Amino acid sequence: MNFPPSSSPVKSACVFCGASVGNDPAFAEAARDLGALMAADGMRLIYGGGHLGMMGTVADAVLAGNGEAIGVIPEFLRDREQGHTGLTELHVVDSMHTRKRMMFDLSDAFVVLPGGLGTLEEVFEMVTWRQLGRHEKPIVLISTNDYWAPFQDLVDRVVDSDFAHGKVETYFRIAADPEAAMRILSGED
Ligand code: AMP
Repeated sequence: MNFPPSSSPVKSACVFCGASVGNDPAFAEAARDLGALMAADGMRLIYGGGHLGMMGTVADAVLAGNGEAIGVIPEFLRDREQGHTGLTELHVVDSMHTRKRMMFDLSDAFVVLPGGLGTLEEVFEMVTWRQLGRHEKPIVLISTNDYWAPFQDLVDRVVDSDFAHGKVETYFRIAADPEAAMRILSGED
């Protein structure tokens, strides 16, 4: 796939995604496309530092495109998630909390690919931190195969039930694919 270069105000994007690849090749393909687009755009990848699953795939794609990939991994996960040895930088930290904080501080935006419970926790945390006024960084979910439709439905249900203000709907965007996500990050969409 060839991607034309474009410039985005987002210099560093944190990508949350699965530590496995799921059961459809379309998931890993989205991770590869996102990594290639980020590298072509000069957008630095901030991520969990592993070499497994969607996480490893997106990092390898950024590096293959001569982009910068920065991992943040807690010591206790270094073996389990196969800490990536070819990254631009790998920060080995003492805890999940330090990891989250560092990933947050290093990033101008959050991009979410399909993933498991860890991914869900991470995206909800960023949306709730936004709800609490802790940041105004964009959050974009890439909905390969409509993966995030139930996420949107759940948030709609929360708002319809008056457990959250309708404004929370504006705290994240759902993109059909990585190219649409990059357009959102660049402010074109
Ligand atoms: P998963 O989506 O479950 O495959 O997990 C993806 C990534 O999320 C992995 O790097 C996990 O280490 C990380 N993760 C799992 N649980 C949490 C959590 N409670 N907070 C932050 N990250 C997590």
